[in-house]
Amino acid sequence: MKGNKCLTPEQLKELKAILEERRKELIEDIKRGILEEASSEREVGDLVDMSTEEILRTFEMRIRDREAKYLKKIEKALRKIEEGTYGICEECGKCISYERLRLRPVAELCINCKLKQEKLERKFEAE
Ligand SMILES: [Zn+2]
Repeated sequence: MKGNKCLTPEQLKELKAILEERRKELIEDIKRGILEEASSEREVGDLVDMSTEEILRTFEMRIRDREAKYLKKIEKALRKIEEGTYGICEECGKCISYERLRLRPVAELCINCKLKQEKLERKFEAE
C-alpha cells in the first residue's frame, strides 16, 4: 500500500476495513438474491461451489444494476487505497474530508464538488 497525502495510515486502515465489510455484505446479498431466483437444484448446487468472482462473472446479467454499480465503486475505492489516490477528489484534486469518507467511503468527490454537481443536476431537471 502506497502512502496517501490525504489520510493517515490509521484512517486509511479504518476506511479500508469499512469498505471490505460493505463488499462482503453486498456479495452475500447478491448471492442470496441469485439463490432465491435459482430455478433448479442443479443451479443451486453449482452456486455453492463457485468462488465470488465466478458468481459475479456468471450471473452478471442477473445482478441488479444498483448492486453491481455499488460493488464496482467499492472495488474502485479499494484499488485507489492500494494506489495511494484514495480520498482525493476526482474533480478538483483536493482532499475529501475523513468525516465525509467515514459516512460515504465510496465518495469520489469532495463535498464542494458534490454540491456543485447536485446543483447542476437539479438545474437540468428543472428545465
Ligand atoms: Zn472537489
